[in-house]
Amino acid sequence: MSSNEIYELFYNLSTDLMCIAGEDGYFKQLNPAWTRTLGWTNDELLSEPLASFIHPDDVEATFIEVARQLSGETTEAFVNRYRCKDGSYRWLEWMTTSASEGNLFANATDITERKNAEKKIHRLAYTDPDTGMPNEVAFLEHLKETLNQNRYGFVASITLSELGDVIGTFGLEATDLIFYEVGERLSNQMNDKSLAARVGKRSFKITYIPNDKNINALKGIASKIFHILQDPFDLMGAEVFINVNMGVKEINVETSIVETMITDVEIALYEAMKSASSSLIFFQSSIKEGLIRNTQIVSWLHTSIENNEFQLFFQPQVNLRTNKIVGCEALIRWPKTTDKWISPAEFIPIAERAGLIGDITRWTVVEGCRTAAFWAEKYKLNIRVGVNISAEELASHGFLDYVSRYLEETKMLPESLEIEITETALMKDTDVASRNLELLHDMGVSVAIDDFGTGQASLAYIKNFQIDRLKIDQSFVKGALQNKTDRAIIVSVVKLAHSLGMDVIAEGAEEKQHIDLLTSLGCDEVQGYYIAKPMPADQFVEFAHAYS
Ligand code: C2E
Ligand code: CA
Ligand code: CA
Repeated sequence: MSSNEIYELFYNLSTDLMCIAGEDGYFKQLNPAWTRTLGWTNDELLSEPLASFIHPDDVEATFIEVARQLSGETTEAFVNRYRCKDGSYRWLEWMTTSASEGNLFANATDITERKNAEKKIHRLAYTDPDTGMPNEVAFLEHLKETLNQNRYGFVASITLSELGDVIGTFGLEATDLIFYEVGERLSNQMNDKSLAARVGKRSFKITYIPNDKNINALKGIASKIFHILQDPFDLMGAEVFINVNMGVKEINVETSIVETMITDVEIALYEAMKSASSSLIFFQSSIKEGLIRNTQIVSWLHTSIENNEFQLFFQPQVNLRTNKIVGCEALIRWPKTTDKWISPAEFIPIAERAGLIGDITRWTVVEGCRTAAFWAEKYKLNIRVGVNISAEELASHGFLDYVSRYLEETKMLPESLEIEITETALMKDTDVASRNLELLHDMGVSVAIDDFGTGQASLAYIKNFQIDRLKIDQSFVKGALQNKTDRAIIVSVVKLAHSLGMDVIAEGAEEKQHIDLLTSLGCDEVQGYYIAKPMPADQFVEFAHAYS
């Protein structure tokens, strides 16, 4: 075979597309691969300007690339799309272009399969397989782009909860339907600048850029999306409701770092998730500061528990008929910082959430027992000492063990110990808590309901437990001088408590008028700044002896 013959064979059998094009913009010659690849006959390809076969979006770029190759500016391959006879397009990668005597010689490979595979891989990498929505990778890329463009809008992080009932009733698969529907609802709210993505099993994120620059409308849009997600879901004809928590952070010119944006929006979400029901929270720097403070307090609490850095203060409780001190409330103090001590109203809830309340309560109980026993023995001061007990602690298995052990160890009379619990502790109504209350009663320890009237427990509910005392919340006492309703509430609490054999103590009496009013409304005892503020144990002894 001559070299010409070999070349001809190659020219005819090659899968590469070879062509010669003229200066007039028409093909002059094409090898058979053109027809095999695109479906056009040779004549059809020769009779139209070659540009008419190129994808309209690629025509301009093609001519620029050809010119660059011919001028020697680049030897890099370039790609464009050619139209097939059936209307579809094939991707061609052009490798060599040269010119001679007004003719252009070029050679291309069909890379359509490779392009499709690439597209598929790209799609897989950027898509959530269950919902078909963009995934976290896509979200982050879109967010980065958005922040670079200095746009106004917001980022939201959404998580769904309370799916237990759905799973229990309809099975685990039903949750997939809900996730899918949530995705649909979110996607429907997006415009072409915005993106909704699924970033976890039950979590979604959105970047929303409004069409017009009305910054004030952002809150409205966020809350509209929040409400749309709360609409019931239809599962086999049944209406199902789920909990939606959503944290939102505004995008503005100052927010340009993706990581900060994500952190802040997660902080807002975390705040939203603290609520038992659906909740929408917009990020504020105070939330972040609160979290930092929280973390600081948890860390301090750990060391203070280890080093016994707490103190107990005592606030007198006076019988309104005899005007005698009959008891006191033990209130924890934490001299952590020199300037202003951290209030228990702040650190007790933090200790509860951090699982540290058990250690603290143990300490308050033993310290309360020790003090009461000491007062009784040394000063013949036999009064009731009330200790605050958190709901979780009352419901813990070890609680009764250590209370009885400390009573025994300190030789405190059980009758002198009172525990103060809130209505919430009763409402939880766990078996352990009820049993503990019963056993405490059998031991002779009394039980008071703290902050009465602010929780949900009705008096009818309370009669199921062995309760000795109701502590009317400070808010009613504060209002009672001006407010008829507050007075009426106090009167009815007193009446019902007495009819159920309970005593009533009012908290927060700050003025003589409070004392007089509470006496006239039938309260048995009172506690408040008017009598005295909480004070250290030794000071309390002096106060009690001087009081009459
Ligand atoms: P609480 O049990 O309702 O305690 C009464 C709070 O009201 C105390 O605040 C007390 O100092 C304050 N108070 C008493 N009389 C008056 C008054 O006339 N006017 C005003 N404005 N306030 C008055 P404190 O000591 O800051 O305690 C706050 C809360 O922290 C307590 O509320 C209780 O829920 C919790 N707490 C305090 N000590 C302990 C403790 O040892 N264990 C547990 N679990 N919680 C505690
Ligand atoms: Ca209390
Ligand atoms: Ca109280």
